Formats: sequence, structure tokens, C-alpha cells
Amino acid sequence: MTALIDPFARSITYLRVSVTDRCDFRCVYCMAENMTFLPKADLLTLEELDRLCTAFVDMGVQKLRITGGEPLVRKGILTFFRAMSRHLDTGALRELTLTTNGSQLARFAADLAACGVRRVNVSLDTLDPDKFARITRWGRLPQVLDGIAAAQAAGLRIKINAVALKGFNEDELFTLTDWCAQQGHDLTWIEVMPMGDLGNEDRLDQYWSLRDLRTRYAERFTLTDLAERSGGPARYVRIEETGQKVGFITPLTHNFCESCNRVRLTCTGELYMCLGQEDRADLRAPLRASPDDAALQDSIRAAIARKPKGHDFDYSRQSVSGQMPRHMSHTGG
Ligand code: SAM
Ligand code: SF4
Repeated sequence: MTALIDPFARSITYLRVSVTDRCDFRCVYCMAENMTFLPKADLLTLEELDRLCTAFVDMGVQKLRITGGEPLVRKGILTFFRAMSRHLDTGALRELTLTTNGSQLARFAADLAACGVRRVNVSLDTLDPDKFARITRWGRLPQVLDGIAAAQAAGLRIKINAVALKGFNEDELFTLTDWCAQQGHDLTWIEVMPMGDLGNEDRLDQYWSLRDLRTRYAERFTLTDLAERSGGPARYVRIEETGQKVGFITPLTHNFCESCNRVRLTCTGELYMCLGQEDRADLRAPLRASPDDAALQDSIRAAIARKPKGHDFDYSRQSVSGQMPRHMSHTGG
């Protein structure tokens, strides 16, 4: 079967799948406190998700990231991970991984490792229990730290994802960095993105430029830029004093769309070809129309042929333009 190549000659080898829009946290930059979630009947079943992911793997996807909402609150999610591990066994899939808030990791870490998961991204913006409760609204820090410890004990490599938030975790730049160094975790900082209507949260107030964050690092440490690329908007530096690798995800101040290798599938079967664009393809209809995958594969190819060159986020004129009406939990971060 021919690989998925988009109109800008980018090879699509990475699929991110949101398996639920639900979550046990209500992070202020991600969700409103009173979120209305999709009716459960609208969600793809785990069997349908399997069929869709398998179609992508058959078409050359080598990396699958399971996300949400909180992927580990989806009922039966381990069954899905077990099913996907068959693609690791055949060698078709090179990596099966997930992004999680860590709340359920204590329960799932060992089973995930048994399914062939080797790395996990855990979102953690602060090490202060009170601030953690404030930013996640419903989350509790000890539960997440226990989850991270369990994942480590199960042999999973951990990357901490921290959203850089002005006036919130600026003062923890070095605390978080030191903690990751001590624990042996990788660390990536993410610029806050203008997703969803979150009521009274003012996105420009939250925005802490990673350029500024990097400057603060450079005042204390020697930074070496690394050539390593993930095909996404992350760039990495090594802190020479600690040997740590730190990532920066800067979709706003930089635009790395030229090397984009990914697409995103929602829990209702919509395929977003770009995180920052509204265009999407409905894959649920062709999936349900026939047990045969031919129509589904045609729809996937037609969607990839519409993958845009780049996104429209722009904070540069001190106004949020290119704001996306949907929530991050819908498309999967
Ligand atoms: N619930 C899981 C978690 O928190 O890791 C997976 C889904 S969450 C939507 C994925 C990532 O998106 C998290 O690292 C979260 O911090 C990030 N995120 C959510 N809203 C964001 C926003 N407005 N800007 C930047 N990152 C955001
Ligand atoms: Fe839930 Fe993740 Fe969004 Fe926080 S960032 S509300 S944990 S989906």
C-alpha cells in the first residue's frame, strides 16, 4: 500500500488519537469548569477506534499517541492498548505511547508497559500542591506523583510536559528543572495556545513566551541547541551543567509546519489535518458505511490531500488572532 504523502511532500507517519473528550481534571487553560461533554453514543467504540488506527498503520503510520481528554478514564482503554500492541509485534508500528495527566497511572502503568508502551508524557505544571489544585481545579498532586513513580517503577521513560504560564509557574522554572534532573525525567515546556472558549480566562494574560523562558535558563546555564527533530513543533536544548535535555514547544513564536508529519483523530472520528485549522474530515461515516476498508482508506487519502501548509495562530500584534473555537481536549493535545 502506498504511504500517506501530503501536497507539500510531507510523509504522514504519526497519528494522535483522542479516545475521549472527558477528563477527571479541569485545567484552567484547557477546559471550562462546567464542561458539556459529548453524549457517549457519539463516541467511536473501541473496536471502531481499532479499525481506524489499523487503517492508518496499514497506510504507513509508525507512531501512535493516545490522548484525550484523559485517555486513562476511557472505559476499557487497556483492551485498546492490548489490541494496538499487535502492531508493535509485527513491526508495523514503531511506537505506541500516550499523553496523560498521570492521575490513573498508579493503576495502569504496569499493564501499559506489558502492552509495549515504553514512554509516557505526563502533564505537570507545578510541584506546589496548592497551585496544582488551583490550575487543574480537580486534580491532586500526590496522586499524580504516585502515578509517575509507578510508571518509573514499571520501566516507562517519562517526559514531563509543563505549560508555561505567566505569573503562575515562572518562579518554578528551576525547581521543576532540578526535580526532573534528579528523577531522570525529560522536560518539555509548552506555550499556551488559544484553544476553546474558556469563559473568563484571558489567554494573553497567561502567555509566557518561551523565548523569555530560554533567556532565563541561559542566565544560569550553558545551553546547546540540539539538531534532534520529532517532526513536530518541539525544539531541544541540552543544559550542559546537568546533561538534561529540555524541549520547547513554540507553535506561536515559531512555525515549524514545514516538517509536520502528523494528523489528529478525535473520539468521534473526525480527522484534523492541522491543530491550528478548522478543516477536518469525517471518517466515521465511511467507517460505518461498510465493513470493508476501501472507502475508509479513500477518505483518509482525500483528507491528507487537504493537509494545509501551516496554521494561523498569531499573538504578535497583542491580540489573539487565529483563535480556535474548539477545546484542546477535543482534538487531543
Ligand atoms: N489529559 C492529558 C494531559 O493533560 O496530558 C492529555 C490531553 S491534554 C489536552 C494534552 C496536553 O495539552 C497537556 O500537556 C496540556 O497541558 C496541553 N494543553 C491543554 N490546553 C492547552 C492550551 N490551551 N495550550 C497549550 N497546551 C495545552
Ligand atoms: Fe484534562 Fe489534560 Fe485538559 Fe487538563 S489538560 S483538563 S488533564 S485534558
